[in-house]
Amino acid sequence: MPTVSLHGPEGRPARLYPQRMGEFDLIERYFKRPARRAVLGVGDDCALLQPTAGMQLAVSSDMLVEGRHFFPDVDPAALGHKALAVNLSDLAACGATPLAFTLALALPRVDETWLAGFSAGLLALADTHGCELVGGDTTQGPLNICITVFGEVPRGQALLRSGAQVGDDIYVSGTLGDARLALEALRGKFQLPPDALARARTRLERPEPRVALGQVLRGIASSTIDISDGLVGDLGHLLKASGVGAALNTDAALALMAADRKKLEYVLSGGDDYELAFTAPQSLREAVEAAAAHSGTMVTRVGHIEQQPGLRLLDAQGRPVAGNFRSFDHFG
Ligand code: ADP
Ligand code: MG
Repeated sequence: MPTVSLHGPEGRPARLYPQRMGEFDLIERYFKRPARRAVLGVGDDCALLQPTAGMQLAVSSDMLVEGRHFFPDVDPAALGHKALAVNLSDLAACGATPLAFTLALALPRVDETWLAGFSAGLLALADTHGCELVGGDTTQGPLNICITVFGEVPRGQALLRSGAQVGDDIYVSGTLGDARLALEALRGKFQLPPDALARARTRLERPEPRVALGQVLRGIASSTIDISDGLVGDLGHLLKASGVGAALNTDAALALMAADRKKLEYVLSGGDDYELAFTAPQSLREAVEAAAAHSGTMVTRVGHIEQQPGLRLLDAQGRPVAGNFRSFDHFG
């Protein structure tokens, strides 16, 4: 797509890519691969997808902006991984199977080393999940990555935020808070031993979307959300959508931090976790455990749904825990 302003500072036509590699060479080299499941992939005006009969399409977009969502010097392969991972996490939360994605990319300049790393990280995760890159847009501008994913889910079986019932258990997958720990260490707030930093940093830079868990939770979970902005805030969205409230065991939640240095604030409102929070009837505890084992994902029970609206934070002895654990809000 051409840009509106095609004139340089002196009124001369400005080229979008002054470097040797042009827009179309760049797409060809780093983002075009033979179509597999897609009927038609990169190269035409539209991609063509053929959803399986009886399935509904699940669609979601997420944008990553330099300086806002990632450090300018982040490893490009990790960035490619994360850009897709955060989108796959939304499919996971719906119990959908990934099909394909599009990539809208604004690049300040053509840096082939960066592009090679970015596309390798991106396409490696895409291959892991059988999710095909079928199109996108490429333009010059401040580094900005916007991906739209398409998945499919049997008609009427998508997991939703609404659906939690009074008495249901609340579960969280994997670990929480370590991504925020890494972020604060990288910002220089404190120092971590090198191995601890490396482990936390993997959680920040290479989240593993819980796609397999989401799919096995279909028919078991009564409601689901992925945790991107922090447990308290995201669970709050689920409670609101379901018209219920909840009690959360903060000691159980705190135990979900993998690092030795545990901090309740990071667990409850750290953000960037990309785990699933879900509810299920107490009668399905064994089914939840079997589903978790089947998908190779740890899940932990951290609370239960109540009639009274709002989220009550209680320690293991049932005493109220004070604190204002707000979740991340770009405009808040
Ligand atoms: P249009 O002019 O129709 O917008 P473009 O010239 O922008 O198409 O893009 C040409 C082809 O390359 C299209 O099939 C488009 O989907 C694909 N494409 C553009 N950028 C990317 C990208 N970053 N990753 C994958 N495919 C891309
Ligand atoms: Mg285009």
